[in-house]
Amino acid sequence: MKLKILGTGTATPSLQRASSSYLLSTTWGNILVDIGPSVVRRLLEYGYTTDDVDMVVLTHFHPDHTVDLATFLFASNYGEVTRKKPLILLGGQGLEGFYENFVRLYRWLSPVGYDLILKSLPAGEWSLGEVSIKTSKTNHNPESIALRVTEGKREGKRIVFTGDTDFSKDLVALAEGADLMVSECSFPERKVKGHLNLADLQRIVKEAKPRQVILSHLYPDWDAFDGVLHAPFLLGIDGLDIEL
Ligand SMILES: [Zn+2]
Ligand SMILES: [Zn+2]
Repeated sequence: MKLKILGTGTATPSLQRASSSYLLSTTWGNILVDIGPSVVRRLLEYGYTTDDVDMVVLTHFHPDHTVDLATFLFASNYGEVTRKKPLILLGGQGLEGFYENFVRLYRWLSPVGYDLILKSLPAGEWSLGEVSIKTSKTNHNPESIALRVTEGKREGKRIVFTGDTDFSKDLVALAEGADLMVSECSFPERKVKGHLNLADLQRIVKEAKPRQVILSHLYPDWDAFDGVLHAPFLLGIDGLDIEL
């Protein structure tokens, strides 16, 4: 699998960090995890188009994870190249209601020339060829999910995306032995309920033992961070490529 970090930011608008978002290329297709502000632009900056995306995952419905879905769906209908191939939209509980409200608000977003498949997977497993997706709920919102994508039948590569979350045992279980964990780590020290700081993340990593951990969903507190991160931790930056 190939991962492109499209964004590592948050609700705070930033010139350095687009909203947290990741494009994972698998043998099944390209999976886009979260689609907040600036993400469609980032896709183009890194050489992709919306048509390259086969699935959009919404880890939850906060605007910093969903706003550019409007940009994406509108472009799929009325952009220079209109979409023909199916699009899967995967999310947690309440996905259908969220989607209905979203397209009702803008009116021009319902698919015109392609099939949109809504897949609600609050806590479960779904296989697509040699790729399987496992989700679990996180401590953030009623609908928020973390996901683990595995490619390959046996001993496959495993990558975990936490979405927004606070500490939870479910997250530890999902991340156990992952090859890569892309984790929210909103603040180095400050504790905000529903999010992780570095100490929370270190606790998860100590138990789950993923091989590599990329910190993302970084609030501006991180700009003043003068500590040193040691392996397996790596501070995320937009544009980072990782081969698994
Ligand atoms: Zn967020
Ligand atoms: Zn959130």
